[in-house]
Amino acid sequence: MAAESDDTIRLVAGAGRVVAVSDALLDMIQYPRQAVLHLPVDLFFRSMLRATAVQADFQNLSEPVVCFIFSSAMQAIRVTIEATRDTLLYFIIREVPQSRLQERFFLVSQFFYSHDTATALLSWPDLIVLQANQCFLDYSGSAAEKLTDAFGRPTVEHTARHVRSVGQKFKRSPDPRVPTQTVRRPQMLEPGGRQQYWDETWTPIWDDGQMSMLLAIHVNVTGHVRTRRLARKQEDVIRRQSEELQAIIDNISDGLMLVDRERNIKLLNNSIRQLFYDPDNLKRAGDSFRHTHYYDLAGNELTPEDTVALHVLRGQRIQNRAIRCERPDRTIYLSESGSPIYDDKGQVEAAIVCSRDVTAQMERNKRDLMDQQRMLALEQRQRESLQRAMEMKDQFFSLVTHELKTPLAVIDLAVQAIQSIQSPEPTGKLQAYLQSIRQSNYRQLRLVNNLLDMARATSGHMRIDRQCYDIVALVEALVDSVRIFTEKKGMALSLSAPPGPLLLCVDAEKLERILLNLLSNAIKFSPQESRVEVELALEEDWLALTVRDQGIGIPPDKQELIFERFGQVDSSLSRRAEGTGIGLALVRQFAQALGGDVSVESRSGQGSAFTLRLPAMPGFGPAQNISPTGVMEPGQAAMIEFADVFS
Ligand code: ADP
Repeated sequence: MAAESDDTIRLVAGAGRVVAVSDALLDMIQYPRQAVLHLPVDLFFRSMLRATAVQADFQNLSEPVVCFIFSSAMQAIRVTIEATRDTLLYFIIREVPQSRLQERFFLVSQFFYSHDTATALLSWPDLIVLQANQCFLDYSGSAAEKLTDAFGRPTVEHTARHVRSVGQKFKRSPDPRVPTQTVRRPQMLEPGGRQQYWDETWTPIWDDGQMSMLLAIHVNVTGHVRTRRLARKQEDVIRRQSEELQAIIDNISDGLMLVDRERNIKLLNNSIRQLFYDPDNLKRAGDSFRHTHYYDLAGNELTPEDTVALHVLRGQRIQNRAIRCERPDRTIYLSESGSPIYDDKGQVEAAIVCSRDVTAQMERNKRDLMDQQRMLALEQRQRESLQRAMEMKDQFFSLVTHELKTPLAVIDLAVQAIQSIQSPEPTGKLQAYLQSIRQSNYRQLRLVNNLLDMARATSGHMRIDRQCYDIVALVEALVDSVRIFTEKKGMALSLSAPPGPLLLCVDAEKLERILLNLLSNAIKFSPQESRVEVELALEEDWLALTVRDQGIGIPPDKQELIFERFGQVDSSLSRRAEGTGIGLALVRQFAQALGGDVSVESRSGQGSAFTLRLPAMPGFGPAQNISPTGVMEPGQAAMIEFADVFS
């Protein structure tokens, strides 16, 4: 049968090759006749038309085949292919009505032009590419070099595994009406190994109750996924932070309360709950006043309007306000502070109140205050008893002075009386006895004086009485008053002094006691016929009075000891009889009380030099009479001081 140009879509083959082809077929497949004629039938269907009936044996078709063929423009056309045979092989190829993909998939055709939506239409069940875009080939990892190379070829031949696995999934499904499936796949696609995310949508297409195609639309959703992940991460961070904040708020030792503009309590942390009597029933600021009375530290009762929260809502800021809370169960003290929280418009939106339990501290303060008051009272009592003791001491001194010294004075007077009424003057034994009484009396008097002065000095009762004297005349008189004793011992006594008068302010009585003590020692510890020198000098602002002897001297290791109470170089009984060891201690006490000091330079066996240094206070006349002791007759002080030296 010759090829006719009619509308029947036919192909005639003989000896396995195309011998005739109808115009209508050429029109459908868009190939020129020469390209088709003489092609082997199998090559024509499989290679030129890329017929998707992969199993079909086109030389021996016993039954019609429904499959897709491709025009030269790579348009997939769904056709039925039938064959009849006599001497030649006649194929009738009919296009399935409304099967052109452009028309059927008009709505999704835009996807095929998209660069970032991988779109493909695959035949079912062979998964042959009927239509696809480059994005799909890239996404599925197709090995096809050109887009059209992939058309008509099963994906199994050129794409990565996942297309096949999806195919498997639809195959396995027992339900013929498999619904559209959407799968989200992560893919390691970006350089640097960053993942991309794609939503793969696979939609089965049905024809006459048979699944015939699979439409794949894969959308890159990496951006959404990342944005959602970021949002989720941020949500996580915010949630964690708010949990942390809540934990901090709950666990800080200070109580925290948040009150909004409407006076509603929005937050009470754990610590503040313990400060309220019935925290579960506190809804609004001031509710606690139902059962608790509040007072300021002055004892004034507070009203609900006085709460820190309300002060803050009215625009104030409160810092460390101390209050007393009389709860039904106990009394506590709080230190409260409050700060406002402002809204966008600068209006106070809420008040944050911070309360601290200061009960322990307040009680400690109270205890401390009571302790302090007790201490003050104790100190007061001690001061009073010290005062009394000092008064008693004064009384004791005057008592001792009176009780010890008066009898001695009486004895002395009695001796003098006997001497004066005895006529002729007492001689011989009587005179010796009277002299002995007087001597012992003076010794006793000296001891009493020294002991009293020492006691006064150590208890701080020493009285200083400075008056204006001609110091040269005063020292001269004192030196003269002992001349009688040096003469008795055949000793020479000299005084060197600047020319007088030299008016200075001195305590004459103390100076007399010091000088007589130094002189009596010098005479006592010097051999007969030796020399004692007294030297008075002014050294800048100091008065220096030196008593130098040629006596036994003082060993270096004893030179400090002798200024201590009862300090003697040789304290054997025999030596002690000559003195008490109080003299020099008293000299130092006097010297220091007068603002000066006394020192010694001495060498054993060669003599000693004691120097008294006193601040030279210029005196402004008139000079006092040079009899310092006043009550005693001239020379009596020396007699008393020297009572040890001569009997
Ligand atoms: P007392 O002379 O009553 O023992 P002092 O305090 O006046 O007491 O003197 C203490 C001691 O210092 C004396 O016992 C003596 O040993 C020594 N001493 C004091 N003056 C001299 C001196 N000029 N020469 C040697 N020794 C002295």
